[in-house]
Amino acid sequence: MTLHIPFDNSYARLPQGFFAPQRPTPVKAPSLIAFNAPLAAELGITGTDDPRLAALFAGTALPEGATPIAQLYAGHQFGNFNPQLGDGRAVLLGEVVDTNGIRRDIQLKGSGPTPFARRGDGRAWLGPVLREYVVSEAMHALGVPTTRALAATRTGEEVIRDRPLPGAVLTRVASSHIRVGTFQVFAARRDYDTLQTLFDYTQGRHYPEAHTPADMLAEVCDRQTRLVAHWMSLGFIHGVMNTDNCTLSGETIDYGPCAFLDAYHPDKRFSSIDRFGRYAYAAQADIILWNMAQLATALVPLTDDQDKAVTAFTEIIHAAADTLRAEWTRRFAAKLGISEPAPEDAQLIGDLLMLMQNGASDFTNTFRALVDGTARDQIADRDAFDAWHARWQERITDEPEPQALMARSNPAIIPRNHRIEEMIAASVQGDDDLFHRLGAALANPYESAPEFADLRTAPTRDQEVTATFCGT
Ligand code: AMP
Ligand code: MG
Repeated sequence: MTLHIPFDNSYARLPQGFFAPQRPTPVKAPSLIAFNAPLAAELGITGTDDPRLAALFAGTALPEGATPIAQLYAGHQFGNFNPQLGDGRAVLLGEVVDTNGIRRDIQLKGSGPTPFARRGDGRAWLGPVLREYVVSEAMHALGVPTTRALAATRTGEEVIRDRPLPGAVLTRVASSHIRVGTFQVFAARRDYDTLQTLFDYTQGRHYPEAHTPADMLAEVCDRQTRLVAHWMSLGFIHGVMNTDNCTLSGETIDYGPCAFLDAYHPDKRFSSIDRFGRYAYAAQADIILWNMAQLATALVPLTDDQDKAVTAFTEIIHAAADTLRAEWTRRFAAKLGISEPAPEDAQLIGDLLMLMQNGASDFTNTFRALVDGTARDQIADRDAFDAWHARWQERITDEPEPQALMARSNPAIIPRNHRIEEMIAASVQGDDDLFHRLGAALANPYESAPEFADLRTAPTRDQEVTATFCGT
């Protein structure tokens, strides 16, 4: 059959200034690594037995109805404003309205240079493509709002990084690719008509109930602070939370040097380019507010009384800090089986985290061990743990179902950094078994399937990954 994607491309109907028309660049020898059939079905895609599937998702052939474009945006990268970024190595093929009535973007990443590529080659190598595929799908299975992975293909071409590496293309699905940086680019240019058009488009697509810039800012703050609290409850470190990697939809986007905590430490960072720990594990809670303040700044020109708007927006950002704290407490309390946290519970949570930090306890396995009743084995200071344990038991005596709450709040398995690295090394050699096995194991992260026990153990010293590298 012929692949059919029921495109309805609204972004491409916006004025030209929002994007550059850009076809993906054909590749030498496309071959499919993975295709996410359940996601395709959700998107209303049919004809997936089309023999051209690899060519279509590597960008060599264009599916009917696509209007490929590279989107324009700006962004603060590590705090420095870059007035023009944009999709340098990605094209939006178009959008579909999925079987749930939700508009979703379908984007190729690594599909060749665009007018926004600057000095980049527009390509991606296999490692970051497989990392994003596995980690974004794992995040989805963990319950975290995220972009999805529809396909991964090898290009049959080499890309030159520090050495020649196999090239690949990721097909990414997002509820949109509108970023804080998309607002910033038009605000910085003082192109307020276009900024207003973007606001109207975003409001219509994501926030139909939000009628003013203040309403929308509050809604975005709500989603983004909840998102970051969710990340933290799973030990996730995004690694490069620049404003161009921060969505208006509240989905996690752009899995570059991301990583999950092994041993717990609030200052942990992996990214080799994050020299000062701007995006370290616990710093994410502050940085999301900083990013939201940049969005607020970009929205001010859309208001009639700008002084009043600045005051109102400042209050919204302050309120977002409270939301984040409350959501953090709610998520971590749930990890302890507490369904309705009281403010004092922050102490109980903090004391356990301190014990974990002092003994370099594995984040995921320690919380999961609370479910199994073996957490004592994970903590170096056993006496201190026993004292904490008594307080905890006392706290949850009246909880109706602490066990069930803990079991769905503490995953048994996360995409461990050393397993991801192992997978990438194997796939570079042409062996994708580990990629598929990781995908299968991570599809049910709250279950302790015996056949995946090896994927749940914390890394040994030799296995431990200490640095991750940018997606490029
Ligand atoms: P990222 O760090 O992946 O979010 O990318 C930051 C910016 O660099 C975006 O504008 C990307 O499109 C651009 N970029 C990253 N890698 C490449 C590449 N290989 N070729 C062209 N542009 C790139
Ligand atoms: Mg990015």
